[in-house]
Amino acid sequence: MKALVLHGPGEISIDDINIDEQLGDKDVRIEIKTVGICGSDIHYYKHGRIGSFIVEEPMVLGHEASGIVLETGSSVADLKPGDRVCMEPGIPNPVSRATILGMYNLDPEVRFWATPPVHGCLRETVVHPAMFTFRLPDAVGFEEGALIEPLAVGLHAVTKASIKPWDTAVVTGCGTIGLTTALAAMAAGCGQVLITDVIQEKLALARMLGLVPVDVTRQYLAETVLEATGGWGANVIFEASGSRQAIDDIFSALCPGGTVVFIGMPAEPVPVDIVAAQAREARIETVFRYAHQYPRALALVASGKINVKPLVTDRYSFSDSIKAFEYAVEPEPRTVKTIIEF
Ligand code: ZN
Repeated sequence: MKALVLHGPGEISIDDINIDEQLGDKDVRIEIKTVGICGSDIHYYKHGRIGSFIVEEPMVLGHEASGIVLETGSSVADLKPGDRVCMEPGIPNPVSRATILGMYNLDPEVRFWATPPVHGCLRETVVHPAMFTFRLPDAVGFEEGALIEPLAVGLHAVTKASIKPWDTAVVTGCGTIGLTTALAAMAAGCGQVLITDVIQEKLALARMLGLVPVDVTRQYLAETVLEATGGWGANVIFEASGSRQAIDDIFSALCPGGTVVFIGMPAEPVPVDIVAAQAREARIETVFRYAHQYPRALALVASGKINVKPLVTDRYSFSDSIKAFEYAVEPEPRTVKTIIEF
């Protein structure tokens, strides 16, 4: 089958590859329709590694996908050929200690698409466990299906935050994850969600989505948040930029007893101001991917409560997927999510 293969830093090609995938009795074979390009795909493309995950063998990229079921294993009852689906990309060991405790995203044995040495889904077909394959409701298209993955990250962060009705939340960074987190926070009952960025086009998109944009080139975040909350501060702050400047000052906009959720992954270790956190008795949460969020994400998109469509700003066909990556490395400021269509 044809696949987009990463050979080393900056080296990708569309190759004809042979992946020996047996259809187990609990698996489905899926024809891929849409794949979103993620920051992690771009990072592997540019650097050939993320931290200790190093691309040593040619690897197929991509992990945000939707498609059509072609074939089902003998004991798959709830999916059939022709079903439109999206796929959760991380497959844990079903009987590991972390999985049994409900934290399957933290299973050290988890196999996640396009995390070396596991091939991703930028290829014509994949075999995937039915348990991690979710039927798309009629109202949910393939593009939205591919965006369920980044939305799951936002929903997981919001779940960790334990938002209460009419809370004020702040999100740092208008990337895909910042925006999906902000939309999830609105859906969870926040009264207002402020979101920061330095790019006008992204702040305009945030405003269009019902969020309160904060241009941190001109506004001081803590001041803006205190103004918006009668001097009290935000109940929850989601750090979704991974930027050192944002993290340096993260507690200054937080209310007493508030919560900070760290979502963004800084490229290098960064210091955290413990005393600033203590002065507010801040609760600090972290997230790694997500668990148990796909059904919720699909229901929220199908109901219209969350609209992820405006996040898709650029589309390429699979035959142009090299161009898509070259673009996504240095995109125009307006770009949020670039997708590839088969
Ligand atoms: Zn992703």
